[in-house]
Amino acid sequence: MTEPTSAPVEDSPVDPALLPHPSDAVARRSAALFARASRVIPGGVNSPVRAFRSVGGTPRFMVSGDGPRITDADGNTYVDLVGSWGPMILGHSHPPVIAAVHEAAGRGLSFGTPGEGEVALAEEIVNRVGPVEQVRLVSSGTEATMSAMRLARGFTGRSKIVKFAGCYHGHVDALLAAAGSGVATFALPDSAGVTAATTAEVLVLPYNDLDAVRAAFAAHPGEIAAVITEAAAANMGVVTPLPGFNAGLAEIAHADGALLVTDEVMTGFRASRSGMYGLDGAVEGWAPDLMTFGKVIGGGLPVGAFGGRADIMAYLAPLGPVYQAGTLSGNPVATAAGLANLQGCTDEVYRHLDEKARQVGDLASEALAAAGVAHVVQRAGTLFSVFFTGDPVQNYDQARTQDVAAYAAFFHSMLEQGVYLPPSAYEAWFVSAAHDDDAVQEIADALPAAARAAAAVQG
Ligand SMILES: *Cc1c(COP(=O)(O)O)cnc(C)c1O
Repeated sequence: MTEPTSAPVEDSPVDPALLPHPSDAVARRSAALFARASRVIPGGVNSPVRAFRSVGGTPRFMVSGDGPRITDADGNTYVDLVGSWGPMILGHSHPPVIAAVHEAAGRGLSFGTPGEGEVALAEEIVNRVGPVEQVRLVSSGTEATMSAMRLARGFTGRSKIVKFAGCYHGHVDALLAAAGSGVATFALPDSAGVTAATTAEVLVLPYNDLDAVRAAFAAHPGEIAAVITEAAAANMGVVTPLPGFNAGLAEIAHADGALLVTDEVMTGFRASRSGMYGLDGAVEGWAPDLMTFGKVIGGGLPVGAFGGRADIMAYLAPLGPVYQAGTLSGNPVATAAGLANLQGCTDEVYRHLDEKARQVGDLASEALAAAGVAHVVQRAGTLFSVFFTGDPVQNYDQARTQDVAAYAAFFHSMLEQGVYLPPSAYEAWFVSAAHDDDAVQEIADALPAAARAAAAVQG
């Protein structure tokens, strides 16, 4: 998950006996920082997946990034396939983004008043994504989905929410829900501290299963405010919606007077110029009622957004009865970074991302095949991931058949060879506009040994 591989997509933590990992030999400063961090920050990290708990070893503390590469506290440089979990779509320290931040910061950091930068960012989003007539800016993807759920409930006057197992929507209490035992039963909390009363209003269904959605609506007619789904699931690895799945969600929800909310925090402005919607609804002729964004629209600074139909957005304060606010929402520096990032995402950039994503996915697949490691590469536009399991993955149960120990070995071999992969088998791999032929060659050179390391674990 994006940054968050929190519940519900958690691989089992690695046995502490496996720590430290041999690759830690080159990570002395990172290890010292991690020890310091662990004294004052729980687990040493401010977001769980950063802690390397599902692959073992010491998390690398990064000090700088340039184009496709990042450098850690010990001076090791890596070709980066995480890209801050999506925002760094143009590469690290991309000059126009950095310049926009400097320029905005020079004029002051925050005023608590409206400003032109937030208008320009909102216009860019509205211009790119057809179903978004109006948009409100927030400071994280979590805030975006939380606000969208409140708005959907306020607009419909209903309380229940449908979500899908393996889809991550940030750490919103109500959406940290795990599937109950039966398809039409209500969800259980997936995190301590989330009350059963909160998740009792949430139904968790298997992804890519329209029959389960029909059954849920049949069991609760007129009670469901919204169906929320990742436009393409990308937080259990990349699981593309089956043809017609999202369209079917729109149809079923609308037939009952419920809303469809597509979460594009990960896929937005990444899967294509207009996100996953550009490859799906825009082609098939359906539209979500609300959408959520984050990651790319902040360019590396904290920005999220939710938007959609103007008649629904009009329910938000100060126009309507649904309260929603933020001291730093639409912050001038953050919106300057986001706008510069989006403006840099040209058709040429998407063509490049497509090509590099395809090359890296194909190279990984060739190396794993040559070493005899069962795997499948799945894609959603320029987003892709490599599952360490033999069969195509259509839902969370299938994603969980992965060999996470083989992935851990693969990950560490790549790391030792200077390629930074997501430290979890359940994450997407991210290329950027700055991934050039040299960067791809470095990845290609590292892959065969990593694939053999994975094969060795499988015995
Ligand atoms: C990252 C992510 C979120 C949460 O965004 P944060 O900015 O980490 O709060 C929500 N939904 C999806 C699909 C995401 O990938």
